Amino acid sequence: MMDTRDCFMGLGGSTPEELFGALPTPCYILDEAMLRRNGEMLAGVMQRTGAKILLAQKAFSNYDLYPVLAPYLAGTEASGLYEARLGREEMPDGEVHVFCGAYREDEFAELLDWADHIVFNSPNQLKKFGPSAKAAGKSIGLRINPECSTQEGHEIYDPCAPGSRLGTTRAQWDAAMDEDTIALLDGLHFHTLCEQDSDALETTLQAVEAKFGDVLPRMTWLNMGGGHHITRSDYDVARLEKCICHARDTWGVQVYLEPGEACALNAGYLATRVLDTSRNGDTSLAILDASAACHMPDVIEMPYRPPLYDAGEANEKACTVRLGGPTCLAGDIIGDYSFDHPLQEGELLLFGDMAIYTTCKNNTFNGMPLPAILVRRQDGSIQPLRTFGYEDFKCRLGSRR
Ligand SMILES: *Cc1c(COP(=O)(O)O)cnc(C)c1O
Repeated sequence: MMDTRDCFMGLGGSTPEELFGALPTPCYILDEAMLRRNGEMLAGVMQRTGAKILLAQKAFSNYDLYPVLAPYLAGTEASGLYEARLGREEMPDGEVHVFCGAYREDEFAELLDWADHIVFNSPNQLKKFGPSAKAAGKSIGLRINPECSTQEGHEIYDPCAPGSRLGTTRAQWDAAMDEDTIALLDGLHFHTLCEQDSDALETTLQAVEAKFGDVLPRMTWLNMGGGHHITRSDYDVARLEKCICHARDTWGVQVYLEPGEACALNAGYLATRVLDTSRNGDTSLAILDASAACHMPDVIEMPYRPPLYDAGEANEKACTVRLGGPTCLAGDIIGDYSFDHPLQEGELLLFGDMAIYTTCKNNTFNGMPLPAILVRRQDGSIQPLRTFGYEDFKCRLGSRR
């Protein structure tokens, strides 16, 4: 479990009001020092094991900060054409890997311009696109499904659930893979974890070995996907390194990891202010200028309760308040939090761990403005990266500006 204090480690003991009180809200603040700290931890794993670690851009793609991470990482991972291009453009010295559930014929040639490693989801896709990718000098992989669920409760984040479309099971492999197709492969890829510790990786690796141990010695690399919460303070790094070394030594493979969360864990905040307070029966309510549905969509989709500076669980402190966004969605609720004092209109609140799955996933539902993105540099100075306005809402919806 993540300790709430870890989420605000980057503040270095200052209060949100001291650091961010002058900023317009809502806004995301990215924390360069925390990104660098994560990068150093990941680089340590690479140095001790020979593994290569990539930034999974779907979690964090604020490319202004790629130069901070680039010295520590081996490159980027993409979910498709646009992220592959972004990785090539913005972390140009790193490798670009791509996995997509299914590639399109009309974009595959362009994908070959950007990506170094191309991972296919099915033997069918491998047969369709593998030969041209190989001819273009790309490293080719197939995503496998080790059919080993190690998480409970988060069904939408479990690619090993029965009937999953993600990855090739051993039965699917046996039915479709012939010798020529296997010969196309440089590596295997699995991605089955989500915010998990290395014990789950160890269990998964045993399933990978049981199901695909016979073909792994023919591969030059094994990509263990993302979901490794490596930079969390209580993560068991030694066990991760044992897993990497086991794979490396047993099958002679170059190991890749492609965490998203771990690269930018606790490296950002969402600053918001209270717009209104009220009470409905026993429930104290506050409406903020930030929305769960628009600005922290994983709060609703995952779902989870985001860390909030200086707030407790419901009923832990004197005043418990249900925090919600200003949209029309009844379920636009961030959660129930408790405070030492009744919340005041205008009060600044700071949510933690907001660099991941936020700026790259937010939306303008209800015509909500997108929060500005700022960066808090290593020296404590704050620079704006991007502000948004009405144009950013309108431009996606029609023909005229
Ligand atoms: C989502 C994803 C990742 C990154 O996952 P995190 O949970 O952010 O570490 C890496 N690889 C693939 C294929 C993914 O789908």
